[in-house]
Amino acid sequence: MKRTAFPIVISGPSGVGKTSICRRLLAEDSATTYSISATTRPIRPGETTGQDYEFVSEATFDALTMMGQLAEWAVVHGHRYGTRKSVIDEAVSSGLDVVMDLDVQGGMSIKRLYADSVLIFVLPPSPEALESRLRKRATDDEQVIKTRLKNSLEELKWAPKYDYVVVNDVLDDAVRNAKTIVAAERLRTSRIAFE
Ligand code: 5GP
Repeated sequence: MKRTAFPIVISGPSGVGKTSICRRLLAEDSATTYSISATTRPIRPGETTGQDYEFVSEATFDALTMMGQLAEWAVVHGHRYGTRKSVIDEAVSSGLDVVMDLDVQGGMSIKRLYADSVLIFVLPPSPEALESRLRKRATDDEQVIKTRLKNSLEELKWAPKYDYVVVNDVLDDAVRNAKTIVAAERLRTSRIAFE
């Protein structure tokens, strides 16, 4: 049976473990590919351009938006991030489901543009768990941690707009649930070409 590939958006507050879930999904499912976003954020140590992000200048990002090459873009934590239309189109036309790690603005835009997309929101097991993860991860001072936590809790309000929620308490369970969602979505009759 032939089926149409689709975009899979993974969103959730910072510190919830989106990146780990995306990485495992990609490593364990050969029918998926990752959408590498363009960003104006400075590269961090350990990151590679073209692998983590396409790190671009403000001028290049302006050009991408003006030429209509981005399916969506948003300002997140003071920097611009965007998804190239060509990345989605090429993945889908080669039959790969394209995993995208996007903020909630990006998630909503993709849903509007690609009606067949699947949106998964990753939730922490509790607000306290999110706070302790942010504290463990951050080297920032108390004020920065407080601001991040406040923003993260704000983002949780978007969860009901998503198609699915996955709670990330134990990573293996969260990954299994994300894979189950993808497996079921692939079996939707609307995605299958009956001959
Ligand atoms: P970071 O800079 O920490 O890797 O990512 C910051 C945030 O930007 C994350 O919440 C991530 O989901 C979001 N993000 C990454 N790429 C894109 C994109 O192309 N579009 C949108 N809207 N958000 C993105």
